[in-house]
Amino acid sequence: MDGLQTQPTGAAYSEQTDDSFQDGLSAAELFALEGGLTYKDYLVLPGFIDFHPSEVDLSTRLTRNIRIQRPMISSPMDTVTEDSMAIAMALLGGIGIIHYNNTVERQVELVEKVKRFKNGFITDPLVLSPQHKIADIYKVKEKFGFSGIPITDDGTRTGRLVGIVTNRDVDLEKDESIALSQVMTTDLITAPEGFSLAEANEILKKSKKGKLPIVNDRGQLVALICRSDIKKHREYPVASKDRAKRLMVGAAISTKLESRDRLEALEAAGADVIIIDSAQGNSHYQIELIQYIKKHLPGVDVIAGNVVTMEQCKNLIRAGADALRVGMGPGSICITQDTMACGRAQATAVYYTALMAAKNKIPVIADGGISNIGDIASALAIGASTTMMGSMFAGTHEAPGDYYYENGVRLKRYRGMASMEAMEAGGAKRYFSEDQEIKVAQGVTGSVVDKGSMFQFLPYLVQGLRQSFQDMGVKSVEQLHEHTYAGRTRFEMRSLSAQAQGTVHGLYSFSYPGIGSARRDP
Ligand code: IMP
Repeated sequence: MDGLQTQPTGAAYSEQTDDSFQDGLSAAELFALEGGLTYKDYLVLPGFIDFHPSEVDLSTRLTRNIRIQRPMISSPMDTVTEDSMAIAMALLGGIGIIHYNNTVERQVELVEKVKRFKNGFITDPLVLSPQHKIADIYKVKEKFGFSGIPITDDGTRTGRLVGIVTNRDVDLEKDESIALSQVMTTDLITAPEGFSLAEANEILKKSKKGKLPIVNDRGQLVALICRSDIKKHREYPVASKDRAKRLMVGAAISTKLESRDRLEALEAAGADVIIIDSAQGNSHYQIELIQYIKKHLPGVDVIAGNVVTMEQCKNLIRAGADALRVGMGPGSICITQDTMACGRAQATAVYYTALMAAKNKIPVIADGGISNIGDIASALAIGASTTMMGSMFAGTHEAPGDYYYENGVRLKRYRGMASMEAMEAGGAKRYFSEDQEIKVAQGVTGSVVDKGSMFQFLPYLVQGLRQSFQDMGVKSVEQLHEHTYAGRTRFEMRSLSAQAQGTVHGLYSFSYPGIGSARRDP
């Protein structure tokens, strides 16, 4: 009875509510618990909603000096980021990092393609020479599905424009061995370099032509505009652009000495940010390389890594890193933790490295192990400023490689850069094992399902993320971080049964909603 009498009354409860009762744990308390945590091991408790998801500002810091509008980066992997992916990422407000499992020339070419990109303009059109035959036009049509090919004097993209061959020039001609010089249209309507898309559009409207070549004052072809593309053309208001209004792109290099030449070529090609790509970033090779870049190319921002401990961060921050990339072992294709017994559970790694980086005013990228919108939100909630994805994006149309079918499912290949296959093609540099006679794989080769185009998939992720921010009661990435470090964002551990309950359960069958579920061949 006595015990009951000491219980506070309802009024006493409400007096206590405001300050002394707090649900859940602060981030510091959560990560002080024993053991390493992954994104699935905790939840963010809901906050207060007094705004619409459209008011959420997802802009964030990529590095000390670069801001982007969406906290998403495509990984420098040879099955994820080449020019098409990097163009899509930048148009949609994120950024793509071109991989280096290729020659310097090839990596530079990919960077240049992104920098040259102008919305609505084809800056590397396929061209033929006057000596090519009608049969070649049909080959192009069969392979790429288009006709209307510019003809340059030497058959190269930088040659002088001498004509154009369209369907109408060849469709009544039976002899496919006739040279294009005999059939091409030579009285050309062109536009000069520097014309805007709107101006070019006007010319196309008046001329009723399907293609409009853009030429410079030396008569060289610099771009091509297609009537059909103009109809599809749309604006990209959040595109990541440099001062000259070109799309932004990053490029990865290894810590090897040869990287210094690569680095200079990439910088000259216009790469906006360099990622030093190493599975274990805490090495004297990397420290020396950061110092070298800071001394010789002081205008270039460097993302160093990968790191998972505060100790690793200290060395790279001291050397001059402008951002840190975090993750050792969480990647979907990764077997590093099993093989090397080294690494860290990803959420714990992100929390501690972000804490150290925040003290030094630089951002961190949560790299690997992200498989849905919730993982992105979880990473940002514990201090990451951006997230880097491989498997999430590898199945999209813009990722390198062709689709194929297996058991009726449309797939693309996706491989770890330390898979045997990728190492044989040059990827071993990331793992200090390029010159080792016996290579030990730290990644696997596999496949991912078709996710459609990045132009639908990324906006879908963005909308989901805005809704997640609304649930958490925060309006921006910066506000989320402020709340987290002030202990206002509250977290809770998720037991295994809570995890089971928090996903679909108890159904005989179901289909997963949204973009990215496996598509079966109809
Ligand atoms: P995902 O988004 O979970 O697929 O992880 C992608 C990340 O895994 C990349 O950004 C790299 O940090 C990492 N990674 C790439 N290749 C390998 C590998 O072969 N072994 C281990 N990690 C890898």
